[in-house]
Amino acid sequence: MKYHSTNNLSHQVGLKEAILRSLPPDNGLYMPNTLPALGSDFWGKWRDLSFGEIGFAVAGAFFGEDVPEENLREIVDGTLAFEAPVVTLAPGDHILELFHGPTLAFKDFGARFMARLMAHLTRGENRELTVLVATSGDTGGAVASAFHNVPGTRVIILYPKGKVSGLQEKQLTALGGNITALEIEGTFDDCQALVKKAFLEREVAERMNLTSANSINLSRLVPQSFYYIHAARQLSEGVEPVFVVPSGNFGNLTAGLLAMKLGLPVRHFLAATNRNDVVPAYLETGTYTPRPSVATISNAMDVGAPSNFVRMSTLFGNSWDAMKSAVSGMSFGDEETRAAIREMKALHGYEVCPHTAVGWLAAKQWHSTHPGSSTITLATAHPAKFPDVMDEELGKGMVEIPERLAILADREKMATTLPKDWEPFRDWLAANIA
Ligand SMILES: *Cc1c(COP(=O)(O)O)cnc(C)c1O
Repeated sequence: MKYHSTNNLSHQVGLKEAILRSLPPDNGLYMPNTLPALGSDFWGKWRDLSFGEIGFAVAGAFFGEDVPEENLREIVDGTLAFEAPVVTLAPGDHILELFHGPTLAFKDFGARFMARLMAHLTRGENRELTVLVATSGDTGGAVASAFHNVPGTRVIILYPKGKVSGLQEKQLTALGGNITALEIEGTFDDCQALVKKAFLEREVAERMNLTSANSINLSRLVPQSFYYIHAARQLSEGVEPVFVVPSGNFGNLTAGLLAMKLGLPVRHFLAATNRNDVVPAYLETGTYTPRPSVATISNAMDVGAPSNFVRMSTLFGNSWDAMKSAVSGMSFGDEETRAAIREMKALHGYEVCPHTAVGWLAAKQWHSTHPGSSTITLATAHPAKFPDVMDEELGKGMVEIPERLAILADREKMATTLPKDWEPFRDWLAANIA
């Protein structure tokens, strides 16, 4: 399979380059030249398949030409080492729990698949692969966990000093081994700028064999389409779900669109955002206006220029009308989000993180105008990852902390502090990366 840049159809590369380069040199995004579909032999039996079998079929549709079957099976089985159950709160009101992985957020699916695919694509090479990633919270933890102890790889995580939660910081800094954390005296944008700069300095990037692990990497997107199919088959036969996706960079929603293109029957998608409502505004007005993000309690969705918007748009032939017919946007403020957290607990005894609460508000609004529909709201993180908000809304200590998160609290933080300028970062890389 060949991949092209969304900015330039004639810039074509193979799988290895699309994954390891992550971003085309013209700053577009990689897309496969032909979007695969699954045939009637799959859709004839999909409701009886296991999660692993669904994952293997979808991964095969995208990567089967380039990755031998037994390797692909290992990559998929290694990724899906935990479940993604659908929980029903009330008739037609379903939640897809995506937080049962090692770092308790849906990003585990993409990061685990990417780590295994990258290790496969670089096997037999004697150069170590250096994965650079800037994080504002969940991404860094998922990437660190996914690459920890993967031979031939090393991960450098840049995070803004004092701007990630205590437990999130431990997820980045306590693993050791091939994972190194750099605490940058600046903002998330400063961290991202340093990562970009390292890639643009071709000499640095080549010498250090750098690759990126951010959500524009196609290998993070594809495994996220597995669980849309797996979720739909958990509903009664013939029910077409409305998927509700709490969104920031829109990778998760784009993965849902890929599942639909593969042939999954989907009634509609709801793009649920906090006050960073660039995409809902586009769906309303037809004008796309990125702007600086504002801080909210659902901070993993505080994105003002969603990096996957271009990919979403190309999936609809860049037609606003076509996108509107499949996707509706809704945006909610922090006070409504807090009220939803309390309401879900009171009505259903169910605890959700602030991101999932934004999604559930969108589902509720949809039900009020579309009675009888079946929504599946993606629960993107475990509530225990956001103890401040949960304590404020439900009472201190009400949300039980899963053991894999709790044990981190006692681990030692290991991080190197650097200023936000390029030269010290470049010198650190030169001194520490062979
Ligand atoms: C990353 C993240 C999101 C946003 O997902 P996108 O794919 O960037 O739209 C939502 N919720 C949580 C908890 C996240 O970590």
